[in-house]
Amino acid sequence: AEEFGIKQALKDLGLNDVNNGTSTGKDWFSNGDIIESYSPVDGELIGKVKATTSEDYEKTVSTAAKGFKEWRTWPAPQRGEVVRQFNDELRRLKEPLGKLVSYEMGKSYQEGLGEVQEMIDICDFAVGLSRQLHGLTMHSERPGHRMYEQYHPLGVVGIISAFNFPVAVWSWNTALAWVCGDACIWKGSEKTPLTSVACQNIAAKVFAENNVPEGISCLITGDYKVGEMMTKDERVPLISATGSTRMGKIVAKEVAGRLGKTLLELGGNNAIIVTPDADIKNTVIGAVFGAVGTCGQRCTSTRRLIIHEDIYDKVKDAIVSAYKQIRIGNPLDENNHVGPLIDKDAVKNYQHALKKVVEEGGTILVEGGVLEGEGYESGCYVKPAIAEAKNDFEIVQHETFAPVLYIMKYSGDVSDALELQNGVRQGLSSAIMTNNLREAERFLSTEGSDCGIANVNIGTSGAEIGGAFGGEKDTGGGRESGSDAWKVYMRRQTNTINYTTELPLAQGIKFDL
Ligand code: NAD
Repeated sequence: AEEFGIKQALKDLGLNDVNNGTSTGKDWFSNGDIIESYSPVDGELIGKVKATTSEDYEKTVSTAAKGFKEWRTWPAPQRGEVVRQFNDELRRLKEPLGKLVSYEMGKSYQEGLGEVQEMIDICDFAVGLSRQLHGLTMHSERPGHRMYEQYHPLGVVGIISAFNFPVAVWSWNTALAWVCGDACIWKGSEKTPLTSVACQNIAAKVFAENNVPEGISCLITGDYKVGEMMTKDERVPLISATGSTRMGKIVAKEVAGRLGKTLLELGGNNAIIVTPDADIKNTVIGAVFGAVGTCGQRCTSTRRLIIHEDIYDKVKDAIVSAYKQIRIGNPLDENNHVGPLIDKDAVKNYQHALKKVVEEGGTILVEGGVLEGEGYESGCYVKPAIAEAKNDFEIVQHETFAPVLYIMKYSGDVSDALELQNGVRQGLSSAIMTNNLREAERFLSTEGSDCGIANVNIGTSGAEIGGAFGGEKDTGGGRESGSDAWKVYMRRQTNTINYTTELPLAQGIKFDL
């Protein structure tokens, strides 16, 4: 780690050997168990974070609720100015934060920097948005009346995030929620607790400099039990949860039971359709990056390739040969394409998938396996694998969060490929590779892809912050980041004002006294 300057990065980010995992912005405190964070890169202990107890949580949520009452009265552009300054700090600390993301999570350093860039981009977006939190005006049916709608801050927003985007998902939520006037409590992944502390340090410093009330950026730390404290809490009107479908189903039920709101960003099972009119070179780049980038641990990773029978062998051979070029190793070393999986449990899931696909009748085209020896001491490095499979195999229907790509054949036209693509429970990202306008338009039509993201001539993986991000079905239906995703962080109010001396009733009702 030292040759890549990790110690300096930790110092730049204000991290200690043992850190408190609970913060209300001004105060750091924690009385829970110690969580040790080991790097999947080299198996070394990076640091420790003290978890949040229920008493710590109580103090956090009451501080957030109190802070909200003041924060909501700040003009939105002033809140935007705080986010602008927060963004300046992110720009200044981009390298150490990107490095820590890479070292604690295992994605490549370039992807770590890219993740921080996403934070920067969403903050830019939020600053502009702080002057555009607009409603509509509409014409009243009653004479001398004016009608309009407006958006008010919602309250305390609970954010639960996954390990694979340990910092960006927090900022997608907070940058918008803050300009909308909300207080945020973040429970990051217990697998990446140090990146959470680092982010909270950055926010706390800027917020203190601007006299932002305490509690507007809060951090709590721990596993699902700490998450449950928020999902069960009526003082938290919105829970934005990113993670597995299994988690989303539990959270959705819990929050719905108290009539709270959820924004769910859950698992994907993303496919690329490759038609006879596809550009093969671009297909290979898009598919290989989509399947092996971040070691297959993106919610938008390419899991399935649905290839037309006429070009099946050609595409298959090109992809299998491209896999031979992949360099697996320390993700901080920019020569490597693929780093480790997050932990040994993830390695087990990967091995299980490869075993299961063969049991179900699949054929391995590119052999997987766990790497051993020098540089692979953490035991988390695996070889990206490809299997020929059928869409209805149980394992293909399931999201395995690892670099396992399933390829399958279709005959007929795009509708036949769409049957396969849409024939899974998840609905996050999808893509078609074609130079045929009719095929592309059909893919994007009402009868086309049922996913929240549908791309033409680019892969499934990654997204820009300007568009709303999320997916349908088992992916949870939430949308965050760009477009009008900000509306979920506010409450909508319809207002009617009578400026006459009469009181006409709606629908022409007469009520004479
Ligand atoms: P996970 O579901 O194991 O954990 C995610 C978070 O939920 C963690 O912070 C965890 O502590 C918390 N959690 C788990 N159970 C909970 C409960 N009952 N109550 C409250 N909180 C609970 O997921 P993971 O392994 O960290 O991440 C991988 C998954 O996340 C994949 O399925 C991936 O597709 C998905 N993901 C989706 C998106 C998206 O935007 N759609 C983005 C990133 C990751």
